[in-house]
Amino acid sequence: MPMGTYRVSPRGQGPRHSLWSLSESSVKEEEGEEDEGARRCLTPFEKLTTDMCRDEKTIKELTVGRRVGFYKVRGEIGAGTFSKVKLAFHALTKDKVAIKILDKTRLDLQAQRLLSREISTMESLQHPNVLRLYEVVETPSRLHLVLEYAGGGDLYTRITTEGRLHDALSKIVFAQVLSAMKHLHDNNIIHRDLKAENVLFTCQACVKVADFGFSTKVKSRSEILDTFCGSPPYAAPELFRDESYLGPAVDTWAMGVLLFFMVTGTMPFRADTVVRLRRCVLEGTYSLPTWVSAPCQRLIRGILRMDPSERCALDQMLGCEWLLPVEITRPLPPFQLNPRYLAEAGPGELEEEEEEVKAALEQLGITSEHIINNQGKGSRSPITGVYRILLHQGQRKRGVETPPMIRGVVKDPKRDSLRAYRSLRHTSKLCILA
Ligand code: ATP
Ligand code: MG
Repeated sequence: MPMGTYRVSPRGQGPRHSLWSLSESSVKEEEGEEDEGARRCLTPFEKLTTDMCRDEKTIKELTVGRRVGFYKVRGEIGAGTFSKVKLAFHALTKDKVAIKILDKTRLDLQAQRLLSREISTMESLQHPNVLRLYEVVETPSRLHLVLEYAGGGDLYTRITTEGRLHDALSKIVFAQVLSAMKHLHDNNIIHRDLKAENVLFTCQACVKVADFGFSTKVKSRSEILDTFCGSPPYAAPELFRDESYLGPAVDTWAMGVLLFFMVTGTMPFRADTVVRLRRCVLEGTYSLPTWVSAPCQRLIRGILRMDPSERCALDQMLGCEWLLPVEITRPLPPFQLNPRYLAEAGPGELEEEEEEVKAALEQLGITSEHIINNQGKGSRSPITGVYRILLHQGQRKRGVETPPMIRGVVKDPKRDSLRAYRSLRHTSKLCILA
């Protein structure tokens, strides 16, 4: 949100005025009320928006990128091919968020299209294991995706530093990824870049599928795709064969590679160049260590089939023997992404959880009038950002994101060997955009 979008009275807002609707003339007419305004205590929302226009320190922080919209930016927590990801705090709610920062000068038309898909995909998914998007903030040079913060790091870093996951944790993590991917496919969304780096831990055993930059919406699951994207070590053979492909089967293959990586700490197909990797994948030979449990081996072999039509479907995975002891997470009951309904609801029309969010917004100084005057901006509104953060806070308190339970924990010895994959993961993301 560019700073100029905020229009604030020179002395702060009276409670009768919407921050967004105050015009220059109305500012002049109210000169006489100056003393009254100065005496009145500003709400946190008024104070913040006033500071963003008038306080030198805040303006400087906004200019140098130490602040982005309503967020105070801290250090870098991740980097991808297209972005930097930084930790930040919401200035009003104090919640931690992650801000994915993209340099607009490096975004050609194609990249802009991918970015708008990333945003619309995240907004169309409501699942405890899909990373949430709170807000989009645009400045003259950058685009910022304000995301739910996943403080436990990514699965790739976890495995490369601590070794492979033991069998019980593998089940819990894979069950969550599976449930998230099923939700995507049920909504006709194909991820196309599923890999350990894009699975993030929010706590010890709770994971979120992230990075929807290559995602696409298909009309039906049998739609043929011909845009080749993803990361080579996770790419299905049909992608290496330069064939058009079916989206769900390509995601499924990546899930097989991911599962192999989780339970062994190594990649099924390893090579130090993409050409050699291609050969490995097209030969389709990999060796599973004997200590991987038989039910898990069967699942991996069922997924990593060369012929996409023979590949284990997600529903089959859900019923497989290896996952039997795990409770599978379910999509969230639908909720509103836009706070307008809070302002329009009559007495008694809101659920308890929604009343709580409305009260929390009002406590910060965000009234129904602000919400109504905020229409049409969707995720590009700081009011939507605060609303989504508070709503998520309430949902978490109600336990909607508790990781699945499992009976009988089995510990396996740890393992290593990631050199070949490490050398490849930063080279050549496959992305031949048709
Ligand atoms: P690539 O296309 O190379 O996968 P990208 O530019 O699309 O990367 P992301 O994958 O979204 O960017 O993020 C890059 C890294 O930043 C992730 O692998 C992760 O380590 C970290 N990261 C991203 N989002 C979050 C988050 N919400 N919380 C914590 N860390 C995050
Ligand atoms: Mg990524």
